[in-house]
Amino acid sequence: MPETTTSQSGPDASGDLPLTQRMPVLFVGHGSPMNAIEDNRWHQSWQTLGRELLERAQPPRLILCISAHWLTPGWQLTAMSQPRTIHDFGGFPQELFDQQYPAPGWPAAARLISQSVAQPDSSHPLGLDEISWGLDHGAWSVLKPMFPQANIPVIQLSMDYSRPAAEHFAIGRQLSQLRERGVLIVGSGNTVHNLRTMRRDAADNQAYDWAIEFDRVTADHIVQRRLSALCDFQQLGAVAQMAHPSWEHYLPLLYAAGAVHEDDEPRFFNEGFQGASIAMRSVLWD
Ligand code: ZN
Repeated sequence: MPETTTSQSGPDASGDLPLTQRMPVLFVGHGSPMNAIEDNRWHQSWQTLGRELLERAQPPRLILCISAHWLTPGWQLTAMSQPRTIHDFGGFPQELFDQQYPAPGWPAAARLISQSVAQPDSSHPLGLDEISWGLDHGAWSVLKPMFPQANIPVIQLSMDYSRPAAEHFAIGRQLSQLRERGVLIVGSGNTVHNLRTMRRDAADNQAYDWAIEFDRVTADHIVQRRLSALCDFQQLGAVAQMAHPSWEHYLPLLYAAGAVHEDDEPRFFNEGFQGASIAMRSVLWD
């Protein structure tokens, strides 16, 4: 019988993650980095969701974040004890560059997780990054409003952009077991993301037809529980090309969807668009 515990414990040297009640799994549309500090409706809903998760009998013990902004050859986990806050953007106010998110890492847990997940292309365990990365804005811009105390350890998982969508989904499947161990899996990207066509004056209910179409098809797959069909997004042809000229913001959705259990119910929040070409649709499966 595996041991069950209800205690909330921080990083310990063993990296042991005892069994808990199953955690929900989350995909967050992060949009503009300014959402980290602007008191807008996206930011406010992240604050609300964070409070809701912390008030549960079993709050998250560890956050595993898959961000659109960390692409590597092969897959890697951050494994430093104090990941730095990375300001991976340009042309924003100093206030945004001054932001820090000093959540700890958890090297021992990263080592254990790396051993439990095989890279689909090679069957090697996940790689470990002890020095170079940290927390990029795909992670901290949403986690800071959700968990402002920064006391839940965060590990990031990179994505190998060269690999097919089904492999990203397959890693999500493997990550699913961590939900039974107090790990909140957070994919951070956008269901539609085209910076070139952004219109900064657009209201959050205005979007291009192709943006609405791609977001609608994605939402339908989620509601109808056709989650593996999310991997076939390129079949939408020209609509997919416009929605994702490159698809690094879409891929984090596949990790979250891969980690979903049959009896999870999806709940959308932050439906709407930023700048007419970035869908902010987010999903909590619980
Ligand atoms: Zn982004």
